[in-house]
Amino acid sequence: MKKVLIPTALDSVAKEILEAHGGYAVVQVPKCDVAQLVREHPDVHALIVRSEKITAEIIDAAAALRVIVRAGAGYNTIDIRHARKKGVDVMNTPGANSNAVAEEVIAMILADARHIVAADASCRAGKWEKTAFMGTELTGKTVGVVGLGYIGQLVARRLAGFDVRVLGYDPFTSEEKAKALGIELCSLPELFERSDYITLHIPENEETRGMINRELLARVKSGATLINCARAGILSESDLRAIKSEKKIRFLNDVYPKDAEGAKSVADIADLMLPHLGASTREANRKAAELAARELIDLDEQGITSAVVNRDVPAGLDPAFGRLAHVLTRICRRVLGSDARLKLVETSFYGSLKPFAQWLLTPVTTALSADYDPGLDHKSTLAFLADMGVDYVDRETDEHKAYTNSITIDLIGTVDAEHLVRASVRGTVEEGNLLVARINDFDKLYFEPAGNWVVFSYDDRPGVLGRIAAALAAAGINIDDVRNPHDSRGVSSLVILKVNLPVEEPLVRRIAADICAKIAFHIEL
Ligand code: NAD
Repeated sequence: MKKVLIPTALDSVAKEILEAHGGYAVVQVPKCDVAQLVREHPDVHALIVRSEKITAEIIDAAAALRVIVRAGAGYNTIDIRHARKKGVDVMNTPGANSNAVAEEVIAMILADARHIVAADASCRAGKWEKTAFMGTELTGKTVGVVGLGYIGQLVARRLAGFDVRVLGYDPFTSEEKAKALGIELCSLPELFERSDYITLHIPENEETRGMINRELLARVKSGATLINCARAGILSESDLRAIKSEKKIRFLNDVYPKDAEGAKSVADIADLMLPHLGASTREANRKAAELAARELIDLDEQGITSAVVNRDVPAGLDPAFGRLAHVLTRICRRVLGSDARLKLVETSFYGSLKPFAQWLLTPVTTALSADYDPGLDHKSTLAFLADMGVDYVDRETDEHKAYTNSITIDLIGTVDAEHLVRASVRGTVEEGNLLVARINDFDKLYFEPAGNWVVFSYDDRPGVLGRIAAALAAAGINIDDVRNPHDSRGVSSLVILKVNLPVEEPLVRRIAADICAKIAFHIEL
């Protein structure tokens, strides 16, 4: 059992997903001292946190810790460098709370433009100050978005209904992508000069700390609005204070150097301030919790996910292909046979997967040995396979063939020391669903590897399927789906049966003996 601590009021769906998956013991304490909880559970395997601070001391206190998942986007509350030194992967859940923040930005802009907060207080006090609360409109204005990641892009999309002109600055966004989003890219100084509203959506790091400074603020139009729902550190508070009244800047703020009760240093310059509410919606909390649990399972089982932020993981690799590599290898190992001694693993990565070959070897290896540590780098993974007595070849694929992104796993083994056996399984991902396309010589299978399956191959002749179905029925097992192709020579048949219950090994062996099966196994996928 892997112990997971959730020392925060995260939606309970994370705990539910991990427990339903099996293999995890989850302790969730909505409000607690994280350091104390970790001391009480030194065997913790993973921590799932929100904005709790995870210091080097906490990481050091948990010798078995392998993963920290930040259920949220920003991870400047976690000592990621120290985590790396200790071999701990840190993941975030990018995108889970983007919509919540994007909606908050628009809510703040409109609330300020129409004096919603002050007008409410005044009206409740029995006053009638219509003239004092003369507002402005967002429609038709220019909005500058600094940072076009998950949140910045969504802000631009949500703003589209207001017929605004959107300017964007992000050195990592191409002209084409920005154009497709209806954003005009420009330099940062130009964005500050031309925008009526400037909204910040960049991370805080060494490069961006204090980036919004006096020089930029001096360029803004008189009366422009600055919104910071990103991180406090990216804006020089003193520079804004120095120039705010001269430029009549409106400042709407959601973020602080520290999330805590007490007076806030920006109070004198903030026209609207919220207690870091950006991600605080039920929907975002649930989405982040779901994603955190699924990422943890993926990392534990396949060893790769593009969500790791403190390890060299491949940007642009769809994690579904990690799952595919893992599941194809599991199936292939069963096809090879449990009495075969594995000697050689060959992988073929087609389409745009080729550059990710070394990362995809990790989920292949997790499928071959429960002793393998998916945190190992490529070199150590090869050494691990070599220690198992297994050679590894990443096969050259023919780039001229217009293959879509797909993977073939070939395993070669020996039976009785000298008799060679071979198994080959190929699959792909279609609309986010994993599909097994071929097993050995049996093509065009296209089944989704999920649930319980029994697989038999046999010399083709009438009546075999009926005997298998009858044996399963006698054991109270229902068949939910069937694939039954012949090989290309029309000599052998393969039958893949999706069943509603696991098929115990003795029953598989009995059916195999009855139909003289060459391949026979049950697998839960
Ligand atoms: P993201 O990583 O998807 O986007 C960040 C973008 O900033 C990227 O496109 C990156 O290219 C760009 N960027 C990086 N350095 C830059 C620079 N020097 N100049 C211009 N652009 C730069 O992250 P996201 O999910 O969009 O979140 C953005 C930030 O919002 C997070 O880092 C976090 O600090 C903050 N956030 C706040 C709340 C809240 O509750 N208020 C919630 C979630 C996220």
